[in-house]
Amino acid sequence: MKKSFVLIASGFLLIVGCNKSTSENEITEGEQPLATERRCSADDVLKQQLAADPSLRNRMDEIEEFTRRFRDNPQPETLLPNGTIQIPVVFNVLYRTAAQNVSQAQLQSQLDVLNEDFAALNTDYNAGNPYNNVTAGNVGVTFVLDQVKRRSTNTVSWSTNDAMKKNAKGIAPTSPTTKLNIWVCNMGGGILGYAQFPGGSSSTDGIVLDDNATGRTGTAAAPFNKGRTATHEVGHWMNLRHIWGDATCGNDQVGDTPLHNTANYGCPSATHRSTCTGTPLEMTMNYMDYTDDACMYMFSAGQKSRMQAVFAVGGPRASFR
Ligand SMILES: [Zn+2]
Repeated sequence: MKKSFVLIASGFLLIVGCNKSTSENEITEGEQPLATERRCSADDVLKQQLAADPSLRNRMDEIEEFTRRFRDNPQPETLLPNGTIQIPVVFNVLYRTAAQNVSQAQLQSQLDVLNEDFAALNTDYNAGNPYNNVTAGNVGVTFVLDQVKRRSTNTVSWSTNDAMKKNAKGIAPTSPTTKLNIWVCNMGGGILGYAQFPGGSSSTDGIVLDDNATGRTGTAAAPFNKGRTATHEVGHWMNLRHIWGDATCGNDQVGDTPLHNTANYGCPSATHRSTCTGTPLEMTMNYMDYTDDACMYMFSAGQKSRMQAVFAVGGPRASFR
């Protein structure tokens, strides 16, 4: 009963979401129930940004072209220095209740997850993974705590209109061209988070996490209590698309990920096949699907190449080098 209510409610919100304007104020109708299914708004926000700024398409096309060149012919001088890059992280915590003012330990647990997942050191990696042959290994990106900013707010819950990133009600980003800003706040509408892709405005750059989908301790709530919402959103921030390409059997611009019909939820069977061309096994364990935190544990080698292109000399986030 509760489940069908959530499904009906989220269907309603989806319809509302399609029609809302980008200037809409934050949702203020009250506390949101904890999410039971992953929902990320990165692609919806991108579509809004493309509609509002026609030049963004051009910038993203150029980034895509650069990414292809990097993939096909990586020049040694453009690679990450010594194969690694260190990303300073600024957490911007917005809270109305004491619980939402998440602890330093919870934020640190989030950094730990990012450092494990992007180095393939996560202990839940499944040796029986049918996609072992394309597992990326170490992406070469590490995350270090730069600072934590906190602000008390009257806003009950936040939408995807970037209000949390502005000083009027939120916290403006700190040095977004050299630091990854992560906003932690109470998201409305069952949204776990969203990210801005490379090419967008630096004034809104970074990722947003629901406070109940941050880290793996404190207020992190199952099934999103292993810090994978941030892994997924940082994947977008490093130019990864959803594995189903945000379309039926769509293109995620990665060669070694299989075609997916659409998003997968929960913990699918490892034998789950798509009905797209070739009926491949779906890579439901990939961080860029919508599966539960406990059931996603890998990036592919093709995704690693895309992420490294972002930080290459000439890449859209080369300023982080
Ligand atoms: Zn996403």
